[in-house]
Formats: sequence, structure tokens, C-alpha cells
Amino acid sequence: MIDLFSDTTTRPTPEMRKAIAGAEVGDEQRMLDPSVNALQDKVAEILGKEAALFLPTGTMCNAISFLVHCRPGDEILMHWTAHPLNHEGGGPSALGGAVITPLQGDRGMFTAADVRNSIRYHDRYSPRTKVVSIEQTSNAGGGSCWPLDLIKDVCAAADEHELIKHLDGARLFNAVVATGTSAADFAAPFDSVWIDLSKGLGAPVGGVLAGSEEFIAEAWRHKQRMGGAMRQAGIIAAAGTYALDHHIDRLAEDHDNAKRLAEGLAGISGIEVDPGTIETNIVFFDVTGTGYTGADFAAEMEKRGVSFSDITGNFVRAVTHLDVNRAQIDEALTEIRTFLN
Ligand SMILES: *Cc1c(COP(=O)(O)O)cnc(C)c1O
Repeated sequence: MIDLFSDTTTRPTPEMRKAIAGAEVGDEQRMLDPSVNALQDKVAEILGKEAALFLPTGTMCNAISFLVHCRPGDEILMHWTAHPLNHEGGGPSALGGAVITPLQGDRGMFTAADVRNSIRYHDRYSPRTKVVSIEQTSNAGGGSCWPLDLIKDVCAAADEHELIKHLDGARLFNAVVATGTSAADFAAPFDSVWIDLSKGLGAPVGGVLAGSEEFIAEAWRHKQRMGGAMRQAGIIAAAGTYALDHHIDRLAEDHDNAKRLAEGLAGISGIEVDPGTIETNIVFFDVTGTGYTGADFAAEMEKRGVSFSDITGNFVRAVTHLDVNRAQIDEALTEIRTFLN
């Protein structure tokens, strides 16, 4: 199977399994797990924040951040394609009573003007505009990277209105590798930021949330309350530390493979994609011209050993990661050509 379904499907490498097997462990809830503590310290340092907290998933990183930042009736601004609005079971509203207002904009991004135009009068009729949330890279935006200047502009607009700034960094390191901007520089304007260990970094489980000491202390209360406080979690944290040490630079290979895939797809009649828009490891392509719907195209390719995901209408998503190599990209392209011929 050539798995272009998602970068979440990676299996731990033999070396990562060794790191897992050798992990020192203790009671995480009492801060006695050395491997969890080491991971948290490392992520806080990489992101340039005072403290960090290991959590089971990225979804919980988002959920807890919004619980700390918002009271019921408060409003969060984010792009209409953003993960918390579309893929987290209505979490921010269901758990925290927050109102999400979706912003428009190309490729998962919006501007400082969009933020300024969305701020509400703080009268008793309106929800209180409280948080602005950015996704780096933007998943549904096609793995697009917010340029640092745009981030600074948007955050400056947020500051004018004393909004809290949150960064969903599920694929932050893809943006770091693609742009050469450091994770700390991207994270600097934000009050809260998290990274996913189980996306392109290739660890089996986990996310790490970072911010001020005060923010993380509050986040800990919610982690405990939600049942996210673990015990000998060093077993999984060790995989995260290994991934940060060994799997960041290699994301460049995933980006090359995504580009190669897009270039190949662009040459297949009936498929539309602009390879010039591919910045990281995500490729959305339009199959309208093939006469198939996205769902039928993906179902047929699945039978032929290539899996895709996130089909909306005639768009199909492919994601590259450490379990797909260059030869498999070429093989996938051959399978698609064979099918369409
Ligand atoms: C995957 C993802 C999440 C959620 O992370 P999980 O670890 O799957 O819970 C949040 N935001 C974005 C942009 C994602 O891609």
C-alpha cells in the first residue's frame, strides 16, 4: 500500500522503538517522569516559551488552550477551514461554550484587516471577541505557510484589541523547514502554541503545548480534569524526543516528494493542480476533468494500492511523510495513469 492518506499513519522506526524501549519512566502526574520532563523542557526551549505540557493529542492541546483563554460566550476568530472548527467535534463550543467566527481568505490564511473588521463592540449584545487562532501550516489550505510578516501583522492587530493569540502548530516544523524561519520566531508573538508529535515528526502519540508558566499551570488543571494526566508516559514521550532529534530536517524530503507528486499529477490529463503552490507535504488536486468524483477516484485508487483522504467534492488530498519514499511517489503516479487510461 502506498499511503498518501495522512502523515498521521507513520509507524515508529526501529531506532525510535529503541528509544521507547530504553525510556526512563515515572509518575507523570507528579512530575516524576524524567522522559516527559525532558520532552517538555526541550519543546519549551525550541518554541522559546517558559513552560510546556505533554498531552495525548493535538486536539486536546487546542481544547485546553481555548478552555484557559475563554469563558462561555467568548469568541474565537479562526479561518473557516481551521481544524478546531471542522474536525474536533465542536470542541471549543461543546467544552468551553466559545463562539467560533470563521474568517475568509486564500489558502487558510487571513489578514490583519480581517481581524480588525471582525472585532465586535464589547456591549452586552455581542459575544466578547477574545482569541485569534492561526494554523501553521494550514492543513486545508494545502500545507501553506503563513509568512512571518503576515503572522506579525495579524498578531499586532490582535494586540490593538488585547486579544489572546493562539498558534495551532500541528505542522509547525514543516513551515520551519520550508521557510528557514525558526520555530521560536514563528511562536514568539503567540500566548499559546503547540506542536504535534504524531504528524510529520513520525511519533506514535502526543502533542506538546507551550506558553507562560501561568498558562501552563492553568492548562495542567484542565489536563487533570479531562483525564489527560497520565502515569508512565515517558514510554510515549521518548518517541517524541527522538522525533525532535532526528525527524525535523528530513521533512525536506517529504516536501520534495509532494512537489514531485504535484508535478506528475499536473501532467495527467483531467487532473488539475498547480505545483507552484506546493510549499510543504500536502497536495490537493482536482479530478473534475477525469469524469470521476473525488470519492470514486479515491475508492478506485484504494483498490489499486494507493490511499488518499479528505475528499471534498472533486478535490482529493495527498500527504507525504516518512513512510512514503520517492520511488513510491513515482509508482503512485504510474497507478493513476494506468487507471485513467
Ligand atoms: C491533526 C491536526 C490537529 C489535531 O491533532 P491530533 O493530534 O490529531 O488530535 C489539529 N490541528 C491541525 C491543523 C491538524 O492537522
